[in-house]
Amino acid sequence: MPNKNLSNLLDSAQTAQRIPVKNLSPVTSSGKIHIREQKGQLQQLRTGINGLFLALFFLLPFISYEGRQAILFDLSQQQFIFFGTTLWPQDFTILAWVFITAAFLLFFITVFWGRIWCGYLCPQTSWSFIYVWIETRIEGSRNKRYALDKAPWSVDKLKKRLLKHIAWATIALFTGCGFIAYFVPARDLYLDIFSFGASFWVTAWVWFFAICTYLNAGWMREQMCLHCCPYARFQSAMFDANTKTVTYDASRGETRGPRKRNEPSSLGDCVDCNLCVEVCPTGIDIRNGLQYECINCGACVDACNQTMNKFGYPANLISYTSENSLAGKAEPFYESYKFLAYGIAALIMVSVIAVDIYNRNSIELNVLRDRQSLYRETVDDNIENSFTLKIRNKTQQTRLYRIYVSGSNAYQLVGEANLTIKPGEQLDYPVTVLAKPELLAGTRNEITFTVAEQHNYSQISQQSSFFAPI
Ligand code: SF4
Ligand code: SF4
Repeated sequence: MPNKNLSNLLDSAQTAQRIPVKNLSPVTSSGKIHIREQKGQLQQLRTGINGLFLALFFLLPFISYEGRQAILFDLSQQQFIFFGTTLWPQDFTILAWVFITAAFLLFFITVFWGRIWCGYLCPQTSWSFIYVWIETRIEGSRNKRYALDKAPWSVDKLKKRLLKHIAWATIALFTGCGFIAYFVPARDLYLDIFSFGASFWVTAWVWFFAICTYLNAGWMREQMCLHCCPYARFQSAMFDANTKTVTYDASRGETRGPRKRNEPSSLGDCVDCNLCVEVCPTGIDIRNGLQYECINCGACVDACNQTMNKFGYPANLISYTSENSLAGKAEPFYESYKFLAYGIAALIMVSVIAVDIYNRNSIELNVLRDRQSLYRETVDDNIENSFTLKIRNKTQQTRLYRIYVSGSNAYQLVGEANLTIKPGEQLDYPVTVLAKPELLAGTRNEITFTVAEQHNYSQISQQSSFFAPI
């Protein structure tokens, strides 16, 4: 069904007449895509969004909260710290819920705006555009870069290539540090890496992510989107007739052809300047209709609007538009079952996260019975059972706790009931419980241990068994 929508859109983009496809891009001859730098509203928007997320990516690990790094996946301690809240491996379901919610939100947005994620938010696209920006500053415009590719090796070519790869590698190294800064204390990381003082594993992981960044953004670029990204393959399943995708209005643009400015022409509005192809990071010609390679970056929209402006034609020959809009139909998106399905699924997941957070406890308790003996009889004929309480303080502050015992009998805790546990620490606390045999109902009696936190009154309880002689 979704493929039918896709093909409908493709058909509608090619309805009036068969579009003569003329690929002027040198992509096909050299196999390498050098894109023309494009300015315009959408490119400004993309640069702004990318800039914001890049700043967040690099700066978030430097934010401190309650004296600690605010966001830290501390693998050595098996804990994830997020602004004073500590998640332990047993709490990681919440992270799974967050990822599932994010996936449903992505699907939800895709129903309306197609692959907007790919064009404006995806790290692969962001880093690729940064690398192209550096390449353009060092090697020059698109045509100069193609010429440099073909030119024989010279001192100038060597200098430019060296400079470009050093700049790419530097950004890759910072990216590797930026990523690993979420796993080790960020403030020491950069200093340690650049002074060669980091441990072997930290250095290895930083370099691993640096090399991945360098290869992805410098060399693979659109190949990742075309051949590796699973989202590119299944996103069309979320499209419907109201999904806004970058589309060429063939009924207005054809028959295309070159002409002089300010001269009347009987041709369509496409002046066949080929700019839309030259700016495309995946090397496609959007005039051929909707293609899975299109990442919805909007570069061709800006390029074409620039040409339309020069020729005094109305804007948006290429634009973000839907199949319904192109056919002049209304866009009742609320009728879409996908809108409802993904929206409801996202809401359910948000509720699941809220319930999970509400039920989270800052104390963890495990009660283990003494394996050496079921019970002991004291000199004054009372019955004694021994337990080990494994109590974990899941907060990032030292906390005071008090232990209580309760059950069907009057149990008495022998020893100190108050204890202090350091942040994140687990204490193995041996306790002995005493009971009068005449008050015990049988050989196996129910007993409940409660550990209460004296700071915020949260508490946790666990049941166990108290044994007595037959
Ligand atoms: S066709 Fe246009 S929107 Fe799609 S990837 Fe190419 S430039 Fe970006
Ligand atoms: S940029 Fe616009 S006018 Fe130029 S070739 Fe592409 S569609 Fe035609």
